[in-house]
Amino acid sequence: MWPIPVESAKVDYTTALLHSDSSDVSDVGAPLRMSTTYRYDSDPSKLVPIGENPKPDGKAVYSRLGQPNVDRVEQILEKVLGGYAIAYSSGLSAYHAALTHFNPNRVFISHGYHGCHGVLGLYQRRGVEIYDLEEVEMKARQGDLIHVETPLNPTGEARDLKYYSGISKARGCTLLVDSTFAPPPLQDPWIFGADIIMHSASKYFGGHSDVLAGVLATRDPAIRDSLLHDRVYLGTIIPTLEAWLLLRSLRTLEMRVMKQVDNTNRIVAYLKNNRAKFPALAAIHHATLQSEDFVREQQPYGGPPVFQLILTSPQKARVFPSKLQLFHHCTSLGGVESMIEWRCLSDDKVAHTVLRVSVGCENVEDLIADLSQGLSCI
Ligand SMILES: *Cc1c(COP(=O)(O)O)cnc(C)c1O
Repeated sequence: MWPIPVESAKVDYTTALLHSDSSDVSDVGAPLRMSTTYRYDSDPSKLVPIGENPKPDGKAVYSRLGQPNVDRVEQILEKVLGGYAIAYSSGLSAYHAALTHFNPNRVFISHGYHGCHGVLGLYQRRGVEIYDLEEVEMKARQGDLIHVETPLNPTGEARDLKYYSGISKARGCTLLVDSTFAPPPLQDPWIFGADIIMHSASKYFGGHSDVLAGVLATRDPAIRDSLLHDRVYLGTIIPTLEAWLLLRSLRTLEMRVMKQVDNTNRIVAYLKNNRAKFPALAAIHHATLQSEDFVREQQPYGGPPVFQLILTSPQKARVFPSKLQLFHHCTSLGGVESMIEWRCLSDDKVAHTVLRVSVGCENVEDLIADLSQGLSCI
């Protein structure tokens, strides 16, 4: 079992979730601001054309450009991600924004979250070349985008970011890290050389299976300005209601995620140590079962709160979710409620024996008991 030093989680990080957003109202709970448009200054002498500035004098003009709920979310994300944060209407719209900004001719990517491959399919039509991440050492050259998803969907296993950032820096490429499966404080991709970080905020940042959103983080103010500019014309700012829901969710990010990781590490250890009791179980995959040294350095708390089960037959994998009481059978992950997915239903590249498990905040003994009884009766 990996140690879970919750006490040692950075105080500035947990405090930032609660106190780093600013507001001009005295409400403790953030007001839900829904307006799409905002009055100009009532003093005629202060009226100047907006031009390219989405928020002249920091004031909102029109909600596609920026608005108060979004500002508060971005202020918090900036602190906890350690870089300028730009919020989008989904993880994939964040990915589109990154591709629009870097405009690469060649992208290196592995299998992993299938939606990003769907996005790249659209760019391929315009001539962007897609290469397997395995080929990066041999083929990467200046201006290429290296896309590393870690931990990886659906296995929950970690990839060595230092290895990829070494190649990326030596060749003059850009390293994009999709860190969706390991939100802060589980992993800090900056330490290992990321140039830009992407999260689907629909997963852990939202955490309640009711928000679709995404975020990019950069440490370069020029890239931040460019992304903010592009977002106005992509039209993919996070919508106002979703920004408000995300703001509320972020307050509890650390306690949710640490509980989910602790639960996951315990469940994975239990299943591994009790393999003999479950003949239907062919394999378990999770970062805590990897032996490479980089994994502990990159993910000091263990995790992610997602792991993969492989059963001995497709039929068993099809039936297993129906035997569980506490795991919703659905796609997506990261909610406070546990979920399981017979993964081939939404990803046709995955073997029909694969189940992806996203662990929630329930009592861990209850989750272990549910999985055990389910595995025993298939
Ligand atoms: C869900 C997910 C995305 C896409 O995010 P959406 O918010 O669904 O658009 C991208 N990458 C990973 C790893 C994901 O899990």
